[in-house]
Amino acid sequence: MSSLSKTIENIKLENIIEKASLYIDDKEQIKIIEKAYNFAYKKHSGQYRKSGEEYIYHPMNVAIILTSVYADYETISAGLLHDVLEDCDCTDEEMEEEFGKTITKLVQGVTKLSKINFSTENEYLIDYYKKIIVGMSEDVRVIIIKLADRLHNMRTLWALSEEKQKQKAHEALDIFAPLAHHLGIHRIKSELEDLSLRYLKPDVFYDIAEKLNKTKLERDRIVYDMQEEITNLLNEHHIPHEIKGRSKSIYSIYNKLDKGKKFSDIYDLLALRIIVNTEQECYLALGLIHSKFRPLPKRFKDYVAMPKPNMYQSLHTTVFGIEGYLFEVQIRTYEMDEVAENGIAAHWAYKENKGSKSSANLTNTTEQKLQFFKSIIDLSHDKMSSEEFVNSVKDEVLNNNIYCFTPKGDVIELPKGATPIDFAYKIHTKVGESTIGAIVNNNIVPLDYELKNNDIVKINTNKSSTPSKEWLNMVKCSATKNKIRAFFTKNDKELYIEKGKYSIEKELRKRKIPFNDFFTEENMEQINKSFKVTDFEDIYLGVGNGKIPTNSVINVIFKDKEAEAAPKTVKVTSKNIDADIIVSGIDKVKVNLANCCNPVYGDEIVGYITKGNGITVHRINCHNLEMLEDRTIDVSWNTNINKRYSSCILVYINDSENHMLDLIQNISLTNVSVDGIKVINRGDKSVYEINLYVTGLEQLNKLILVLNKNSFVEKVERTIR
Ligand code: MN
Repeated sequence: MSSLSKTIENIKLENIIEKASLYIDDKEQIKIIEKAYNFAYKKHSGQYRKSGEEYIYHPMNVAIILTSVYADYETISAGLLHDVLEDCDCTDEEMEEEFGKTITKLVQGVTKLSKINFSTENEYLIDYYKKIIVGMSEDVRVIIIKLADRLHNMRTLWALSEEKQKQKAHEALDIFAPLAHHLGIHRIKSELEDLSLRYLKPDVFYDIAEKLNKTKLERDRIVYDMQEEITNLLNEHHIPHEIKGRSKSIYSIYNKLDKGKKFSDIYDLLALRIIVNTEQECYLALGLIHSKFRPLPKRFKDYVAMPKPNMYQSLHTTVFGIEGYLFEVQIRTYEMDEVAENGIAAHWAYKENKGSKSSANLTNTTEQKLQFFKSIIDLSHDKMSSEEFVNSVKDEVLNNNIYCFTPKGDVIELPKGATPIDFAYKIHTKVGESTIGAIVNNNIVPLDYELKNNDIVKINTNKSSTPSKEWLNMVKCSATKNKIRAFFTKNDKELYIEKGKYSIEKELRKRKIPFNDFFTEENMEQINKSFKVTDFEDIYLGVGNGKIPTNSVINVIFKDKEAEAAPKTVKVTSKNIDADIIVSGIDKVKVNLANCCNPVYGDEIVGYITKGNGITVHRINCHNLEMLEDRTIDVSWNTNINKRYSSCILVYINDSENHMLDLIQNISLTNVSVDGIKVINRGDKSVYEINLYVTGLEQLNKLILVLNKNSFVEKVERTIR
């Protein structure tokens, strides 16, 4: 193995083994790490990185980073193997045979994540990517390996083009550093941030670095003196301890400067960390320090009694130290220090070393997952309890949605049960409309194939191909359905316009009104105005598809004498038991519910006598009634009828989040059935149009009440078209 030991960065297998052996006692486990190294070395031989070095140094460095956060032997082994499945000639089966299920699964997880293209400037997507990483990593260790992988790539970023450098730095800052923070791995988080800043704002980075350098001697002296004072104080009271001077990261200073503070004002540049043996000693040390150095009001924080969601524990205080300098002081135990620096991985390793039998390895337990979800709580701005949040993320990420990929690695989020057609439409409507076939994970599948999580989907298209009406039964997303329907509506539109025109002309002939008298520019404008449209074509369309009665168009200009003579109201004389509407004085009449205002059982309603097409029932506040003028008739609901009514509501959202899921959950609470949901306005805020079937006004109002209870709902409206 001697030939393998030479390295450009002076990393050798022995270095990894040495660091791992500091906290891993089991010789068998160390042997597996060695085996993983040898396997990866063979598989990567002949491969080089952009930086010019042999490829193996990348996974070796990843392994070194993993030992620095006290990862277990499976994680380190998977770290050494992490690029083998993707870049080398090695099958999943071969790896499983050599290293077993667990390590192979970890490598598969990292490989899956590496297929995702995380570059984005969209803030919504950033959160979404974080959730995807969490959702796709069935085991937290996958994320830890991914973080180590990314950290080493950031360290060797100089080998890439400037454009790539900026893109990678953005991803590191937006996605990976926050994930490291949520996992509590301060060490990785802080280095990722500093490296990102160096590539994103080199002038700022070097400026801060230089200023820190200039003041370093002076600061070192003051910190040293203060350290001595505290050591004496604690020794007097027999508290064994260790004190570390602590340097702030360049990025954290940049952050404060960015918030308008002056370099000289950042008082917590002077920082100390006191590490003691027990929790009790933390408080004792704090009391002693406060008795000698006056604390700055309101700066004391007790994260020992109340740990942060990422399990961080420490006492924080700021005191007036020697020579009047302000010192930010952290007090914690050794164990708390490990967790703070290296995250929950360290927590397990630490306990392990102490021989505590109750703690498990970092395995894929529900508890671990739950803990992790809790740690990403502040990804969400909602005022939910942590439990609610955990459930909602789990629902959103794990239960109801699947994530599929384009061959290029872009993520497409779909509901469970979605098909390649949904996928195609999600990419672009044009892609959807010209779909002719699909290839999933290199296999040809039928268009009604049910997609699974992590499928890689290639859509075959043909420009001259068009959607088929059968697709409506194959797709899962209501948005896809709407798009397919819209395609056919558009196609049918011209037909309806023809039909509408013919219908108006026919009626004019019947009423002996000359076309020239009717189709004047002035008349058409007046008609447009009264139907609130801008183009007379929309009138034709409305008549053609049955939404506007032919006569009501003509009546705008030429009042119908016959109709004016029609009875206004008539007393109820009989009941038509079969119909859902009882019309005063008229038995067995054809009754339609207007589809402009969608009346439901319980609404206040009024009937409109159409010519030759029975009675159309509107809600009393429907604005279309104004135009229909005098041809109304009293109607009432038949209380004996038990059916569902079609209704449509608009839900106005007051933020930019996607609430589709929330809305569906809300609706399912009330037993209302949904026919379709679509987003009709995507700007800053969204509006969802929801088509429903309800038993009546009572149920509908209950639903509106439930919806209104959500803090993200601005208002709910029933539509009147
Ligand atoms: Mn890698």
